Amino acid sequence: MRSFVHTTGPSRVVFGAGTLSQVSDEVERLGGARVLLLSDGSPALRKDVERLRAALGDLAVAEFDGAAMHTPVGVTEQALGTVREQRVDCLVAIGGGSTTGLAKALAVRTDLPQIIVPTTYAGSEATPVLGETVDGRKVTRSAPGILPETVVYDIELTLGLPAPISVTSGVNALAHAVEALYSPDATPVTDAMALEAVAAIARALPALHDDPSALEARAELLQAAWLAGTCLGAVGMGLHHKLCHTLGGTFGLPHADTHTVVLPHAMAYNAAAAPDAMDRVARALGVPDAPTGVFDLIRRVGGPTSLRELGMAEADLNRAAEAATAQPYPNPREVTRTGLAGLLRDAWQGRRPQ
Ligand code: NAD
Repeated sequence: MRSFVHTTGPSRVVFGAGTLSQVSDEVERLGGARVLLLSDGSPALRKDVERLRAALGDLAVAEFDGAAMHTPVGVTEQALGTVREQRVDCLVAIGGGSTTGLAKALAVRTDLPQIIVPTTYAGSEATPVLGETVDGRKVTRSAPGILPETVVYDIELTLGLPAPISVTSGVNALAHAVEALYSPDATPVTDAMALEAVAAIARALPALHDDPSALEARAELLQAAWLAGTCLGAVGMGLHHKLCHTLGGTFGLPHADTHTVVLPHAMAYNAAAAPDAMDRVARALGVPDAPTGVFDLIRRVGGPTSLRELGMAEADLNRAAEAATAQPYPNPREVTRTGLAGLLRDAWQGRRPQ
């Protein structure tokens, strides 16, 4: 018999193609009339930001396009100035996890409602978690008020997501689903969402590799990102997320790329201690073995497979193993410095897990 506690956060999700046009209705639904539109200033998203601004019309009273990776507190303080000057009563963010992070950082300081329009598969929009950088150090906190009130997923916004980001961001979502399956907090609901996400990602990534504009595959991947993000928000993660957090925070490695390289190795490390979860992942992927199945999927769709190619110095591997073992955290298999050193060496070299 299984005992569990399951909590679902109060979040509304609008999903479809062309849903950008519904954002102003969602603002009004939340009682908003003075919106601050947030983005990261990327030229690749400029047209989408313009379309959203036009759709918001008079509701958009201010704009801030300085969102940055890992949510630096200095950037949040600048945006807070705009919130106060313009008497903003609702936040609308369009972009990837970095832009969502800025909305969350503002919401936790002001209690303003948030509407997130995600354009990647990072899943942050579905979690009550905020990671910020203060003086170059990443600090994470969790609070119910951080969870965005509304998420508007518009598949059309992901059609232009470049193939390499589609792959790494998709594997970022896969990592949330895999670690949810062996989390000590897992419930029948998170299990079901995670398995659905794994199977959908395994179908969608090769389909998008063959045709990046395939609308059905984009829809399947975005839906999987939501399911996997919901798992991330509902249960604690293990070694893989801890390690990626350390590699991103201490060594400045890019978020989604790091997840892509590390995932098969973290799975191989945990495989013998989480046989049931690995069996279920393997079945969802349609392969005999989960860690090698994930590695082969990443290679098949052209994702990065080594920390070396992400620019990590070999000399930093020991320091990374030390940093990731500094504090204990739940994981199916005991996390030792020697074990991690081996994992990191394999990941650095890009070796196929055994
Ligand atoms: P990102 O938001 O930095 O975006 C990556 C790049 O892709 C950017 O240059 C962006 O402009 C571009 N981009 C985004 N959407 C695009 C589109 N549709 N077309 C073209 N270009 C596009 O990266 P990310 O991987 O989405 O998010 C990473 C950040 O999110 C990290 O800071 C990470 O810590 C955070 N995160 C937080 C949580 C959480 O629960 N708190 C969860 C996942 C990620």
